[in-house]
Amino acid sequence: MIDHNISYGHQYISDEDIQAVVETLKSDYLTQGPKIGEFEKNFAGYLGCQYACMVSNGTAALHLCAMALGVKSGDKVITTPITFVASANGFRYLGAEIVFCDIDPNTYCMDLDKLEQILVSSPKGTYKAVVPVDFAGYPVDEERLRKLADEYGFAIVVDACHAPGGSFIDSKGAKQMVGNCTYADLTCFSFHPVKHIATGEGGAVTTNRKDLYERVALYRTHGITKSPDLLTQNDGGWYYEMQDLGYNYRITDFQAALGISQLKRLDWSIRRRNEIACKYDEAFKDFPIKTPYRADNITHAFHLYIIQVDADKRKGLYNFLRTNRIFAQVLYIPAHTMPYYRQFGWKTGDMPIAEDYYQHCLALPMFPTLTEEEQDWVIEKVKEYVGE
Ligand SMILES: *Cc1c(COP(=O)(O)O)cnc(C)c1O
Repeated sequence: MIDHNISYGHQYISDEDIQAVVETLKSDYLTQGPKIGEFEKNFAGYLGCQYACMVSNGTAALHLCAMALGVKSGDKVITTPITFVASANGFRYLGAEIVFCDIDPNTYCMDLDKLEQILVSSPKGTYKAVVPVDFAGYPVDEERLRKLADEYGFAIVVDACHAPGGSFIDSKGAKQMVGNCTYADLTCFSFHPVKHIATGEGGAVTTNRKDLYERVALYRTHGITKSPDLLTQNDGGWYYEMQDLGYNYRITDFQAALGISQLKRLDWSIRRRNEIACKYDEAFKDFPIKTPYRADNITHAFHLYIIQVDADKRKGLYNFLRTNRIFAQVLYIPAHTMPYYRQFGWKTGDMPIAEDYYQHCLALPMFPTLTEEEQDWVIEKVKEYVGE
């Protein structure tokens, strides 16, 4: 018997995390100090990419990628309907036209066969960017995307808000960390409390392209630079230039301190999440429950553990779990069915796989500090309802 609420995701703040934040609060810098650069260096080092730019949240990260790519009003950008709406919105801020591409019924990520169908039916260069989502922590096939990008001329912006710590083995047998940008142009992360690294609000852009990194960094701080090699003139030590219209999308130093501390536990978190996933898989194997697919060449980051149940039972299961203090979640309502996106002509029926997924899906509690007892309770209650 569990006497407290269990959410689908929960942050873990350790004593060391608290200590790290307190030290920064007592330092000279609350923001624009040394912790941001340190977090960037450690994160880039962990992933194995050249550049990481820490920003105020994941949505800002997506918006900055769109700005760095020079997305303009009317440019076409392809993304998936099964995502948090920010994946599309980051490009809408600049007036891009969003084209949704249906999902793969196993991975729930963008279906790259369908993407190819969209690409072949238009002249090369029609699409400015493709924004796949590593949904629930499943790394999308970036290597195949790279081939398509080179052939059809679009930029790859991976929304990896669900997948820091995830990885895949490419066709050459090399391990590729999500966000290392071996194949992608840009990758975005979020440090919202339900995500792997929780800094309250926070996000990151990673890339190996210096030109894109410089623009992301420029637009993060009002379009202002002090970097000597970017200035058009230099009046002295105080001198800076506003070279374009940017935003204040900075993260603070005490959030960066929290991020630095949490990054040290990311590998442990991925391990724990995979253990929890395996236990769920095993528990549900004789029940009418579809558990998450994993190809042999990927390490799932398990931001979410999503099951699919009979459409007739899904709402009942959701409600039954709530009465037992288990706050499972339905993620996501397909973005193309949102009233905002419907105004552009999208409607129910356009994305059959995504819409079918939405009728069946439920995210069960998945976070590294979920206890054995809590997970047993979740399993017992799911079985109790579904098995009826
Ligand atoms: C959380 C999330 C975002 C946005 O991140 P914020 O930090 O909340 O702005 C974007 N895309 C996906 C897939 C997310 O899960």
